[in-house]
Amino acid sequence: MSLGIANSKPKQQNVAEAVERARDAYNRGVTRPLKWRLQQLKNLLRMYEENQNAMIEALRKDLRRSKMESVMLEVAYLINDLRSIIHNLEDWAKPEKPEKGFVNMLDDVVIYHDPYGVTLVIGAWNYPLQLLLLPMSGAIAGGNAVIVKPSELATACAAFVAETIPKYLDNDAIIVVEGGPQETTELLKQKFDYIFFTGGTSIGKIVYEAAVKNLTPVTLELGGKSPVYIDNTADIMITTKRVLWGKFINAGQTCIAPDYILCTKETQDKFVAAAKKVLQEWYGPEPQKSPDFARIINSRHFSRLQALVDASKDKIAIGGSYDANDKFVELTVLTNVVGSDKIMQDEIFGPILPIVPVENAYEAIKFINEREKPLVLYVFSKSDKVLSQIVDNTSSGGMCVNDTMMHLAVESLPFGGVGASGLGAYHGKKTFETFTHKKSCLVKNFSPIGEKLASGRYPPYTDGNLKMLNLLLRKRFGPSLKFLPYLLCFAVGAGLSYGIFAWQKALSEDS
Ligand code: NAD
Repeated sequence: MSLGIANSKPKQQNVAEAVERARDAYNRGVTRPLKWRLQQLKNLLRMYEENQNAMIEALRKDLRRSKMESVMLEVAYLINDLRSIIHNLEDWAKPEKPEKGFVNMLDDVVIYHDPYGVTLVIGAWNYPLQLLLLPMSGAIAGGNAVIVKPSELATACAAFVAETIPKYLDNDAIIVVEGGPQETTELLKQKFDYIFFTGGTSIGKIVYEAAVKNLTPVTLELGGKSPVYIDNTADIMITTKRVLWGKFINAGQTCIAPDYILCTKETQDKFVAAAKKVLQEWYGPEPQKSPDFARIINSRHFSRLQALVDASKDKIAIGGSYDANDKFVELTVLTNVVGSDKIMQDEIFGPILPIVPVENAYEAIKFINEREKPLVLYVFSKSDKVLSQIVDNTSSGGMCVNDTMMHLAVESLPFGGVGASGLGAYHGKKTFETFTHKKSCLVKNFSPIGEKLASGRYPPYTDGNLKMLNLLLRKRFGPSLKFLPYLLCFAVGAGLSYGIFAWQKALSEDS
């Protein structure tokens, strides 16, 4: 495997060299100016726009993904996200002026958005462009240098990134390093100022452990089993379509794909009947021939899924076939699954959808809470009572009610996991915040009034000074003091106007 950097020295040395080059660029201040960041982001936008077909083709090669899914979930998604960053960056990067208390009325209280320094972004193979390039744009927007490591399993996309990025972006501050576990291990031996990782929970732990050595802050975008609870009140046809779409898009190889369904036996029967109709409508009698259905990334993942189907033979209600030569696994729905079944042990990450019957929402909550915290929890219900019961009694990275996947498209909703499903979040403004450190700063001046007011802090300590300090520091929860300076200006202005008016009146009476 080649490294996406210019020279051809041994790999390990090149990894260290790449990080050193990025560090040098950061230390020279290359990445900090807003002008540089905006220029790089505009170049990146041009790269997306000029290479849309190449991106779609790379995704087709890696996943046999349809154009529609590739555009919707990667190309257009990246373009729109980047447009928003470019549009908002100046505003986001401005120092914040938070509210200040009475004691700081004469001071400046500021929060600066500092870049971290040299950042590392490690991508996964299932959305090989979006999951790598979106955090990369956040790192650039934050004023960081960045090393990006695409997943070695999506070979065409990794090659696209390694070849294209150097043509559009600053080669010293934004560097692509290609490779698998060996190269990533080498990378993780280097010192980074922030690491953003997307992938499975087990590798996430390796990354976290490596980061601890340098106390490097991390975002871990991990996976897990995301449940769907379908209440008896849900519209079953709409629910079925939305669940199947979320499950079978990218052949189920999506971190937020519904992993399994919890519902009553009655709802299970209705779901299966509706699913048969929907799948027939979407993919026809021979789904393998449908151009809209993606393939499994490689033979290892295919064999893993094949073993899961084989272990569930007696529970198949829909589908169940596969073809190793084509890395095709049919859309498969399993019924009457129980928690101890093989299919319920790990994240499925493929087009198999088990249904676990439960009696009610209470049982569903218990089932969910007995397992690791999911990346997302889906609920389909018309009942506000059921909804608040689930919201109040479960913990998950996020929730989406009466739909699947669509929460990802809401820019104002930070996306990330909790517990085993991840640490930290991004999307929209949160991406910028993730890649910047909030540096708090109090700016005082040498005004004699301020010095006099706070002089009670100096020794010799007296009860009188303590009383005065307590009065100044006392927390007050009345109206905001934010507008006090304006009110004072207004009062002074009004007083002056009144004085001038009275003076003129007196003059005219005298004459
Ligand atoms: P993975 O953990 O196998 O690989 C992720 C990255 O880690 C790759 O770049 C890979 O090269 C690197 N890597 C692999 N082995 C390594 C090792 N031993 N040491 C260091 N680095 C190593 O994940 P994947 O198979 O690419 O992706 C699938 C997983 O990612 C699923 O669990 C899925 O849920 C999760 N995922 C999460 C999100 C999210 O946003 N939360 C998005 C997509 C995928």
